[in-house]
Amino acid sequence: MKLFQRIFLIFCLVILCTMMVASFVFAMVRDNFNRKYSEQQRAIETSLLTNAQIVFQTQGEEATEAYFKRLRSNPIANNIVLIEIEEDGEYEDILDRNVSEAEIRYAYNYALTHNDSSRTLLYTDPFKKEYLFFVRHFDQERALTFQTGLIIPGLPIAPVWHEFIVLGTVLIVGLLLAYLIAANIAHPIKILENGMNRLAKGDLDARVSQQLSERKDELAVLGGQFDKMAAQLQKLMARERHLLHHVSHEMRSPLARIQAILGLLQARPDKQAEYLSRLESEVNRMDNLVGELLTLSRLETSNAPLNKEPLTIVSLLAQLVDECQEIAQQNQQTLNLTIQGMNDNNRFDGNESYLYRAFDNVIRNAMKYSPSGSTIDVKMYEDRKNLRIDVTDNGPGIKEEQLAHIFTAFYRADSSGNSSGTGLGLAITKYIIEQHQGKIIAENVQPNGLKMSFVLPKTYIKKSA
Ligand code: ADP
Repeated sequence: MKLFQRIFLIFCLVILCTMMVASFVFAMVRDNFNRKYSEQQRAIETSLLTNAQIVFQTQGEEATEAYFKRLRSNPIANNIVLIEIEEDGEYEDILDRNVSEAEIRYAYNYALTHNDSSRTLLYTDPFKKEYLFFVRHFDQERALTFQTGLIIPGLPIAPVWHEFIVLGTVLIVGLLLAYLIAANIAHPIKILENGMNRLAKGDLDARVSQQLSERKDELAVLGGQFDKMAAQLQKLMARERHLLHHVSHEMRSPLARIQAILGLLQARPDKQAEYLSRLESEVNRMDNLVGELLTLSRLETSNAPLNKEPLTIVSLLAQLVDECQEIAQQNQQTLNLTIQGMNDNNRFDGNESYLYRAFDNVIRNAMKYSPSGSTIDVKMYEDRKNLRIDVTDNGPGIKEEQLAHIFTAFYRADSSGNSSGTGLGLAITKYIIEQHQGKIIAENVQPNGLKMSFVLPKTYIKKSA
């Protein structure tokens, strides 16, 4: 059974049950009310009848007529009948109630046989004249004049039809509401289902929140989440495609060069040594590229966090800078390390080899992209919350509009010029730092140069005893 049908059916059942219970309770209350009302009416009738007799006995016929005239507006009083029984057996209806003779006779006989009846009374005056007092329809459960609810004013049909019309209208309106509510819930779910089907078939452009834009409920939120998920998937897929495109492109160039070198090697065996060394450097470049790709893919796809252990971050950076000094000297550059206000024994929870690689990428880039004679400053310090490492060079820097892209795999800014490289180093660095809950920020410095800042949360630092 479809969701819409199920919701609709449930609402119908709820409405029907509610109507049944409500009708039952309503009928009970009404019966109870009517019974009490009827009892009350009877009590009033009895007391009016007694009053009539007393007035008649004490003040006479005219006073009784005047008494009932005064009560004319009271419908109960109008049910009281006063009959004078003539000697010849004729009846005179003193209050002009228009009562049939059969009814009078019936009441008279009833009064004769039921002395104790409070609703029929026989009175004989001192002149032996007989009078009959009675309440009309005294021995019948009178049709209730009181009706509670479910009556449509001004509709001239039997009360039972009024009830049918009212209940029928409630039922139809209820079913209509049930239909609207069921449709209101099922419709957005159908939209979401369609979106998911499109996505499952590979249509990554599938979006649903526009169709749910008029809603402000949880289903609209779900639609928004669906769109976010689809957009994320689309981004990931685009990145995968981009990566694949770059990988194949990056692989093809060295392979083509290797092929060319092999051709040359066959043609000029006398230059074997030179060609073999070029071959070796091409193979090394490919090895480097494949190695970086593997690292990136491992970092990107692994769900498990990196293995971390307490490491002395100060000595790690000092050792790295030390190892880079040789290249700096070759490039005729100055590489400075400043450690500010930090204890040499500070231990930082991190993955030593990956962190080493991250810092190494950035320091080597600073040396690679700065001209000879420039200075590279590596500074490590703590602020209130973070451990910070700034690597600042006075090279060409990076065009502002390119800054945001340098952490994307295979992206090489204009600053790279003709230098060799894969464009993967900073992407790897960014992943490593994110795995340590930190961030890396690149900004140009004045008058020229680039500053790369590592920001690592200080909670990772444990002071050694
Ligand atoms: P690669 O160095 O292999 O090209 P990276 O991911 O390490 O790849 O760097 C991406 C790009 O960022 C480089 O191609 C270069 O254009 C730019 N870059 C990185 N560091 C610097 C720097 N210190 N000065 C100027 N440009 C830089």
